[in-house]
Amino acid sequence: MTDHPLRNTPAMDAFWMPFTANRQFKAAPRLLVSAEGMHYTADDGRTILDGSAGLWCVNAGHGRRGIAAAVERQLATLDFAPTFQMGHPIAFEFAERLAEIAPGGPDKRLDRVFFTNSGSESVDTALKIALAYQRAIGQGTRTRLIGRERGYHGVGFGGLSVGGIVSNRRVFPQLNGTDHLRHTHDPARNAFVKGQPEHGVELAEDLERLVALHGAETIAACIVEPVAGSTGVLIPPKGYLERLREICTKHGILLIFDEVISGFGRLGAPFATDFFGVVPDLVTSAKGLTNGTVPMGAVFASRAVHDGLMNGPDGIELFHGYTYSGHPIACAAGIATLDIYREEGLLTRVADIADDWAAAIHDLRGRKGVIDIRTIGLVAGIELTPRPDAPGKRAYDVFVDCFERGLLTRVTGDIIALSPPLIIERGQIGEIVDILGAAIDRVA
Ligand code: PLP
Repeated sequence: MTDHPLRNTPAMDAFWMPFTANRQFKAAPRLLVSAEGMHYTADDGRTILDGSAGLWCVNAGHGRRGIAAAVERQLATLDFAPTFQMGHPIAFEFAERLAEIAPGGPDKRLDRVFFTNSGSESVDTALKIALAYQRAIGQGTRTRLIGRERGYHGVGFGGLSVGGIVSNRRVFPQLNGTDHLRHTHDPARNAFVKGQPEHGVELAEDLERLVALHGAETIAACIVEPVAGSTGVLIPPKGYLERLREICTKHGILLIFDEVISGFGRLGAPFATDFFGVVPDLVTSAKGLTNGTVPMGAVFASRAVHDGLMNGPDGIELFHGYTYSGHPIACAAGIATLDIYREEGLLTRVADIADDWAAAIHDLRGRKGVIDIRTIGLVAGIELTPRPDAPGKRAYDVFVDCFERGLLTRVTGDIIALSPPLIIERGQIGEIVDILGAAIDRVA
């Protein structure tokens, strides 16, 4: 595609693209070359409104100078130093800053922080911490990990095993000793809902079923996304997370919330944990942690979990970590990101715009082929009737049409997911709805 004067399409053979139909993409590439605020610029010079915060990660918007400056300073000061039996101040500083806003509120903050490099690594780290903790407190028979159907917990073997998306699992062997709760998606009872659906609290009892099946003494942890994003925006029914918490507590099972997308203000509170008022034992994060600028993840652990592992014999308490855990450049980006979140009130801003967002998006109801719309915080899922001969094709066509007309969205199956940067203005919400609505009509 070298037909446009601005285009300078690179050779594309070598880069094996992730989660992409490589041959299809390379035959008709979509390239982004710069970004500022709420917008990308495509390689033909067009401005593209970012309806997906990149990939659910650019919460403070693009091109933040404060982050760039902090990274530049850190690179010139200390480019890398190990965190295995060594330390550098900025990793401790960032962890302390995170501890101040960690999920759980003032009384129950999960204020012990383990650094990773991605959401997938955060998930595998949390699962390993759960297993190590159970063993450390004399519950070594607890090795089973419970996930949920339609869950997405990244692509490591741990996350894959507790995840519940068939195409991600089909080809790969999984950990022994996992099981899955039923998912909570029930469009027959809960279609076109703003916020949490009324029906489905009883689905939490599925955990009791698995306890009865396997024995509580075999189960280490249960992991769920408080709001599932990558599997099509699934919002927990009222009372569901509370009930999961109760059942986990009753049976000594650690509850893990995967907040890789819901963390850092997406719902209008710093974390979904705070938004729903349900506090798990471990929280995974990534993405918005550094505003998507430098790869990094973090696991937040409760004092109980952390201290459970600190009471053993002297020596390394957890045989786990990454060369780049607490990488100085990522920490610099993270601290600068937290500064922006604080200065601009971004971790709670969505609380003020969520109603307008929901109202605008739900206006798409009635367009041809729209069978459900769900919204919470600054997230929306718009589900379309699949084409009988080609599931996923209709939403993909909408995605391409939107891109061509200046809007970046994300699709999964026949669901269009929206999650713009938290700095969005009301007029831009209208723009998203206009472009998307017209695309849905055209593709119908
Ligand atoms: N967990 C959840 C809930 C996610 O949404 C994602 C990515 O979208 C991940 C884990 C994996 O994160 P990463 O792609 O950074 O490994």
